[in-house]
Formats: sequence, structure tokens, C-alpha cells
Amino acid sequence: MTPTDPPGAGRADLEHAARELAKLLPPPLAALARLAFNYRWSWLPGGPALFESVDPGRWALCGHNPVRLLQEAPAESLERAARDDTLLARAAAAENSVISYLGRPALAGTPPPERPAAFFCAEYGVHESLPIYSGGLGALAGDLVKQASDDAMPFVAVGLLYRQGYFRQRLDASGWQHEYWTPTDPDRLPAALVRVPDGRPLTITVPIAGTDVVAQIWRVDVGRVPLFLLDAERPENPPAARWITSRLYISDPEIRLAQYVLLGVGGVRMLHALGFDPSVVHLNEGHAAFAALELIGAHVGGGLEGALAAGRQRTVFTTHTPVPAGNDTYSVDTVHHVLGGLYAELGIDGEAVVRLGRSHPDESAEPFGVTQFALRASRIANAVSRRHGEVARSMWQHLWPELPDEQVPIRHVTNGVHVPSWVGVPIARLLERHLGSDWMARAADPATWEPISAIPDAELWAARREQRAELVDYVRERSPSDRLGRGDSPGFAAAAARGFDPDALTIGFARRLATYKRLRLLIEEPENLRLLDGDRPVQVIIAGKAHPRDDDAKRLLQSLFALKDHPAVGRRVVFLDDYDLESAGRLVRGCDVWINLPRPPLEASGTSGMKSVVNGGLHLSVLDGWWAEAFDGSGGWALSGDVDADERAQDARHGAELHRVLADEIVPLFAERDEHGIPTGWLARVRNSMRGLGPAFSAARMLADYRSDIYGW
Ligand SMILES: *Cc1c(COP(=O)(O)O)cnc(C)c1O
Repeated sequence: MTPTDPPGAGRADLEHAARELAKLLPPPLAALARLAFNYRWSWLPGGPALFESVDPGRWALCGHNPVRLLQEAPAESLERAARDDTLLARAAAAENSVISYLGRPALAGTPPPERPAAFFCAEYGVHESLPIYSGGLGALAGDLVKQASDDAMPFVAVGLLYRQGYFRQRLDASGWQHEYWTPTDPDRLPAALVRVPDGRPLTITVPIAGTDVVAQIWRVDVGRVPLFLLDAERPENPPAARWITSRLYISDPEIRLAQYVLLGVGGVRMLHALGFDPSVVHLNEGHAAFAALELIGAHVGGGLEGALAAGRQRTVFTTHTPVPAGNDTYSVDTVHHVLGGLYAELGIDGEAVVRLGRSHPDESAEPFGVTQFALRASRIANAVSRRHGEVARSMWQHLWPELPDEQVPIRHVTNGVHVPSWVGVPIARLLERHLGSDWMARAADPATWEPISAIPDAELWAARREQRAELVDYVRERSPSDRLGRGDSPGFAAAAARGFDPDALTIGFARRLATYKRLRLLIEEPENLRLLDGDRPVQVIIAGKAHPRDDDAKRLLQSLFALKDHPAVGRRVVFLDDYDLESAGRLVRGCDVWINLPRPPLEASGTSGMKSVVNGGLHLSVLDGWWAEAFDGSGGWALSGDVDADERAQDARHGAELHRVLADEIVPLFAERDEHGIPTGWLARVRNSMRGLGPAFSAARMLADYRSDIYGW
């Protein structure tokens, strides 16, 4: 009934956890316990609504974690659910659907299940209830894993179980960002410790910075794909070793490097301990690069170069970083300190390892770079959009001095988004009616999306309005408590709840608040605030976290809050604290226009705009990342994408272009209505955008590209 993986790989442990949870519930709810232990429910039509109907208030309090919901819901709620025949029928239908989904035969032409592609990543954005992600890299990894499951590929995912996850964001009344961390209790996650037959946890050991670090393994099922997470919270480990899996991306270089060693080397050891022998090892970003060291360890007899050539045959690497400074480097001393024990164990020469991580191996002053190491250790590499491919080839050409730029072995696979995870229910129902009930399974095929041309205006507009209204409800609910929590006055706190309008043009800007993403262009000229308050009002929702050490980005956020005294700002602009997968989903479903303002060429791809597109949002972006290959003038809008050394001049130009497009094109087009009050010109663009971009920027297309161009399947 489920795809076969090795018997010791933890499936029985997850089944056991589901049975234990079921024991706490009225017997008719046992199916819910089984559903709760596989994230397939989260992209099953009706899946989230099923758990919500057990106890809507508790569902919200539990952060949409179904295991916690069933553990914590009061007895009355559970008993009421157990007597609700409709709910039980929905649960049975959901379970049947999951069973047949899991039981599909494996994709033809792929290796057997014990020889899967093993995907390594430092973060996974599978769902808001599993807080082991920070942003775009994690969201992409989550989407990719779900698509591999939908495609029935032999695939396993490797990561770390962070006990405190990524930082949470809270702002004060001045707009200054404060960070805090909340502990995650793994016993309340849809996860199970992988155990050996006598019941003890299966562990692996990796020598890191002078300590034999022991790690146990949690398994989380994401459809057909098992996600294995290493966890150093073991009694054998001293506190500093346990800290390795405490938080994402710890700044201290020694601990950060220790995280990478545990992920890469520990990940390969873990897969072998679980009974997998991966046919492809996919390093997603340089964090996992040291997996290559462990893979070559078995071959070192012939020297490091020969061993590397052997390990390289099954290693592939995806780079996500188009700025040299964004690629992690470490001092040679730190590398030797953290990896010293491993050199001895694997019988490899530390100097040779360091040389592989340098752009210029003989430059003894050059630090060790994980990207250089990963590029040299893999048979093929890829960037994440066409433009990023060009940037990456010229950025790394010096590693292949004999090759011209265009022959550098870095290709591109443009990112895509997992449509079933991001599309809102009203739009999904609309598309089901017009594209056929199995449209999501055919998302990569342009023909699937063709019937969008024939969707009547009234239906498309009704679905768009419903999704916008859901977002406006959410803003009205959340913004008063966000504002009161910052210390704002009750009057200011209530302003957006009164001002937000389900029929007003709604603009979203949500992403990491790095200065190169230039939120500033949206907010800096006070005369542009006129747009907010004209007779065709516009409302703006902003969200995003600044890196804890990025004070420039924090000051930028504060400059947004300095506009608070302007009355239109209180009513029509909200900042949502603590951007995460949940708020991202609500924003991309409801916003009419999605804005992205990176300084070119610094956006490797960007994916949130793709999430907006599948919901009928229109994208307004600089021609960088994915938009440089997506924009054709028929859907969203573009700002020029050329590189300009004079950043201030470029910012001024882009700021002016942005506000001109908003004022002269976007606002009037949205306001132009036919006799039924429908903006027909607007909807024509929405249709073009969804039809043209939906298939090309789906995760289904992305995975097909990885299969054929990178894995060679
Ligand atoms: C999609 C997503 C991102 C990435 O968005 P970009 O467009 O690449 O900035 C970041 N964070 C969350 C929570 C997301 O869902």
C-alpha cells in the first residue's frame, strides 16, 4: 500500500506513533490519527478543512499541527467529531485518497526505491507546523519534495531537526525588529524517532571539532517521500554538540560549520544506516557540501583526486547565490579544527580538502568556500533561473580556467512552485470546473491551462474577490493585535481593521528584508502616498524578516514605521509580523499585485511571485531572476533589469518607474469596469498570466527538468 523502503527506515515507527495517538481518541477518529502522520493531508483538497472542523479554535492555537490538535483538543470536541457522520465520511474519503496516492507505481525509468535520489538541504518549508525553515530556500525544498512525491519518484530528503527553528519576529512601536526563539517539542510533531529492533533510537556518529557527535534520526513523511532529520539532542553529547541542531544558520562560524558537517557527512552515514544507497546525491546549496567528503571516503586508497572523481559521478549541486559575498567561507583554521577528526577517520589530507574549497587553490590566504568545494565535488551543477545561470557561469568561470563562460558546467533549472500547496480553494474549484478534475496532476502541460481563456469574467472575478476578501478578513483580525502588541494606541490599532476593503486593489510585498530587495523604493517618496487615498484606494500589505545582524535592513523597516502619522498609512498599509509559510499563503492567495524590486542581478530566482500567479495575482517586478524569462507584456508588468554600477541612479530610476506604472497603468486598469462592475481588461491580463506562466513555473516542470537535465533519469 505504500512504496517500499528498507524495513529499518522508520515507517513502522511512524505507524506505531499513529496507533499510539489513535488510542487517545474515540475509536471512530483513528483515521484522523493516521492521516496526521503524513503531510499529504496538507495538499489534499479538503485536507486542512477536515482537521479544522474537529475544533476550529484549537486548530488555530495548535498552529495547524494535526498531531497537536488530536493530542490537545478537549474531550467534548473529539466526541462531537466522533458522532459527526459527515466528518467521518470526509475522513474516510481522505484516507482512501491517500492510500491510493501512496500506492501508485513508481515512475517508469527510475531506479529502485533503495537507490533513490537523496536530496540534502539545511532547511525544509513543508508546512507552517514544522518550523525548520527560514525562507525561500526552505520553501523551494518543501515544494520540490512534494512534487517528487506527486511524481512517484524514488526520493528521500535529508535535513536537521532544529529544536528552536528559525527566529520569530516581533516589532516594537518604532518598527525596530526583535528576535526570539520558541522551542519545538518533537513529540508533538508528525514525526517519529527511527528505532532499532530492541527499541533504542538508531544513531550515527560523526567526529566534529574534537567530539564524537551522536545524532538520532526523526522521520517525517511528506506524501511518498520520507524526510529524515538528524538531531544532536542526545545524552551522550556535551551541551555544545547538542547546540548544533538548536537553531537554523547559527552565526558563529565554528557552530555553523559543525551544522554543515552533521548535515552532509552525518546525512550520508544516516542514509547508509537506514539501508539506502542513493544513486544521486543532490546538494541543495553549499550547506550540504561535505556529503561529498563522506562519499569519497570509501575510495581514498587512490588519493583524493581519484576518490573525488569516483564520488563526483553521483553528486549534483544546485547553487542559489548570485552574489560572491553570499557564498559562505570559513578560515582554514576553523575548517581544520572542525574537520580534523574526520580527516583522520577517512584517511584524507586536510590541505587537499581546503584546496578544493578555494577559487585559487594555491592562494594560502584564501579562505575555504563551501560553494567552490561543492562545485568541484559534483558532476554537474545548476543555477535556479536562466539569468542566474549566466551570472553563475561567469562568477565561477575561474574554477575552469581552460573553459569559456558558456562552457562552464553550470546549467540552470528554473525554480517552480508546488501548485496544489499554494493555490487557494476558490481558484482551485474554478480551475477544476474548467480544466478538469485532474488538472493539478497535469500542471506541467501547457495544454492543461488552455481552457483558462474561456473562463467567463464573472466566475473568475468572483473567485478573485473571494480570495481577496479572505485575506482582508485575516488582516482585519491580525493587524489590531500585531499593533497593540507593539504598543500602538487602540485608535491606531483599529485603523486598518476599519480601512481594509475586500474590493480595493490589494498590493503585496513580502520577502526577506535584505537591502538589495529594495522595499525602500515602494515607500520612500511621501508624495506617492497619494495613491493610498485617492478616489480609487489602494491597500498595501508588507511582511518579511531582516537577518538578525542586518541593522541596515532593520533601520529600513523602521523608516516604514516613521510614516505612521500619515492617516492613510494607518488605514491602508499593514505590516504583518513574523512572515512564515502560513502568512505567505494568505498573501499570495489574496493580493492582486505582487511586487518584487531586487537590485539586478542579485535575485537568483524568487518564487513568491509564482505563487501569486497561480492564484490570479499579477506580478510587477524588475526583470531579474525568474521574471527575466517569464515576462512577455501580456500579464504583469516589468521594470528594467540592466545592471547599473551607479546604484543611486538606478534606485531613483526604478522608484520613478514603479510609481508611474502603479499610478498610470495598474490603478486605472483595476478601476475600469464594465456595466456589471467587472474589470474586464484586468481579467484579460489575469488569464494571460495564469495560462502562460502556470505550467512553466510549476514544480512539476521543475522536477521534470531535474530528472532529465541533472539526474539523467
Ligand atoms: C515563497 C516563500 C519565500 C520566497 O519568496 P521570494 O519570492 O523568493 O522572496 C520566502 N519565504 C516564504 C515563507 C515563502 O513562502
